[in-house]
Amino acid sequence: MPSLHGQPEALPTDSRAVKRCDQLGAHPFSDTQDGLFRAYLSDAYKATCTQVAQWMHEAGMTSRMDAAGNLIGRYEGQTPGAPALLIGSHLDSVRNAGRYDGMLGVMLGIEVVAHFAAQGLRLPFALEVIGFGDEEGSRFPTSMLTSRAVAGTLDALPLDAVDANGTTLRDVLHSNGLDPARYLEAAYKPQQVLAYLEAHIEQGPVLEAANMGVGVVTAIAAQYRFKVSMQGVAGHAGTMPMSLRKDALAAAAQAIAAIERIGASGPEDLVATVGQLCVGPGASNVVPGQATFSLDIRAGTAQVRDKAATEICAALHTIAQQRGITLALERQNDLPPTPCDPDLTERLATSVARVTGHTARRLVSGAGHDAMVMAALTPVCMVFIRCKEGISHNPAEAVRHDDAQQALLVMLDFIRTLAASPAQEPTEFSA
Ligand SMILES: [Zn+2]
Repeated sequence: MPSLHGQPEALPTDSRAVKRCDQLGAHPFSDTQDGLFRAYLSDAYKATCTQVAQWMHEAGMTSRMDAAGNLIGRYEGQTPGAPALLIGSHLDSVRNAGRYDGMLGVMLGIEVVAHFAAQGLRLPFALEVIGFGDEEGSRFPTSMLTSRAVAGTLDALPLDAVDANGTTLRDVLHSNGLDPARYLEAAYKPQQVLAYLEAHIEQGPVLEAANMGVGVVTAIAAQYRFKVSMQGVAGHAGTMPMSLRKDALAAAAQAIAAIERIGASGPEDLVATVGQLCVGPGASNVVPGQATFSLDIRAGTAQVRDKAATEICAALHTIAQQRGITLALERQNDLPPTPCDPDLTERLATSVARVTGHTARRLVSGAGHDAMVMAALTPVCMVFIRCKEGISHNPAEAVRHDDAQQALLVMLDFIRTLAASPAQEPTEFSA
């Protein structure tokens, strides 16, 4: 009987999880002939679930599709029906996607179970591997629909939402044999679950810059999104003297520079971005009278985000006032941060140190993940895997085999320590 303790073991240098992601990167696992696009409950999604379920069975799991269309594999613990450690990520993708975003976390979950099953090892808890169906919101104008169903935080389904072909979510569910009236039955009870672990590519360049293959996520960032409108006066580009202009675009340019400066003045996890800019009237011989731009601010804590937002708003007001421009700020999005569970995060960091021989690099996730939804159900933790140049949502997404194997060792070590000294008893979530 293998021990729960001991030194990190050696794994093959090539990663079956990465190879499987590569296999799933093309037709029939993609809805497009060129590149990868896997939409929630599409033909490619169904083909993917069939293939992944087969791998779950080979690894020693039973599998089922839940009421929301998630694929769930289960490996029983020492006692049948015991609460489960959930290991998940998503099976859907954006258009023209990379092969590892989401998928790698699911494939690593299967490797974890395959490893314990091959050793004949049953844990004091069950392991469940979840492939979520809708994280990206790339088919319907929604996102994280299916993890919200599992976490029990989905109040109502947008059944009349339509995809690019005009098909409603209602019809898509029906044609997949899913009953909209039973969708919310995908919800777990907190006492069925021990915790949620997600492995995901970083989708950013921090681990690469730190020369680390894996890292530990401390929180998923708080986010604000604003629409900023600057109203000046349009005028003739030839006849309006510079001193008399109320140039909305020049004001916006100054504002964008201020946003960049304030974003760069905070801690590493603070980021501020202007990603869209519309200029009116938009002619080469007209002084711009109108400039509208997006503003996205994120940080690991609401405190850091809010401080930056306050500074940015003050800077924008000053610029507008000095230039005689009318400023309007409309907040469109306010997402609170999701802290990862401190105890589980410490355990993950310890496992990273044991496996890599280096202190774990901790970082905030600027991108959203299923984990932030699952945090409403159970304590969550995340391990990040380095990806080449931080590129993601792009066919150029690339992951090293040895990094994926390192992540697998971290997950195995983490689960062994969890089995040897359990986390706190699951408690009812309270906000
Ligand atoms: Zn993802």
